[in-house]
Amino acid sequence: MLVLDIGGTKLAAARWVGGRLQDRRQWPMPPTPETWRQTLALIATTYPGVSRVAAAVTGLTDGRVWTAVNPQLISFWDGYALADALTQAWQCPSILLNDAQAAAWGEFVASDRQPANLLFITLSTGVGGGLVLDGQLRSGISGLAGHIGHVSSGLAPLDGDTRCGCGRLNCLETLASGTALARQASRLLGRPLDAESVFAGWHAGDPVCRRLLERAAQAVAQALGDAHALLDLDEVRLGGSVGLAPGMIDAVRQAQQALPARFRVALSLARLGADAGLMGVGHWASDRLGAP
Ligand SMILES: [Zn+2]
Repeated sequence: MLVLDIGGTKLAAARWVGGRLQDRRQWPMPPTPETWRQTLALIATTYPGVSRVAAAVTGLTDGRVWTAVNPQLISFWDGYALADALTQAWQCPSILLNDAQAAAWGEFVASDRQPANLLFITLSTGVGGGLVLDGQLRSGISGLAGHIGHVSSGLAPLDGDTRCGCGRLNCLETLASGTALARQASRLLGRPLDAESVFAGWHAGDPVCRRLLERAAQAVAQALGDAHALLDLDEVRLGGSVGLAPGMIDAVRQAQQALPARFRVALSLARLGADAGLMGVGHWASDRLGAP
């Protein structure tokens, strides 16, 4: 089986052999329909002889079609029959799962003592989440379950741009995603900055970068407190390039200290790191597609 992890900015692929990843490769996510088709053809050539394809994708999916929650992330894909495109490219069965839901399942399966109620949260290009409740992955009727990036935060972004691409205001994603950090820093400091530069500025003692990351951490801590109040979670795992960046988990843990103890859920880093989506969709799809 071939497993894919398709995010807002990166696309990873690997062969799934006996529950492990082999020959993992990564590409930038193509920005247009034409470059997407070229990249898909390139991946098909790179991984010939595949009998099943399973893709973890950012956004909403019913297993066949991709739908945007935030249409700004992959603008040309809304309503795209991605599974059919994969089936056509490899001439084999295919299936889709939301990437954060896949990662939640991967984290659950990879745990020595599996937490019955687990939330995975990813801070990356966007903010996503996946829920395992009573030992089962919860996708929801429309695939929306776990989309914690689009819960409304009690805090506003520091650049005052409260509109989220999903149509709501003050979503967690407008404060704590890599895109949001870059947007706020660029506006406040008057020069183009990416999320990595915001972290570098923070570690170098820049007060604006520090305020931005502290506010992002506060917003994440509040959202985790809300999720815990609603679901009484055993544990939360933090992933994504921003979530895994040095210092981020400590900042969120510190922000949790401002919450009453009852709302401070146990938080740790994703055990599978950047491969949580690939591993999760591999485990999940092997049961459904009958792949080894
Ligand atoms: Zn939103």
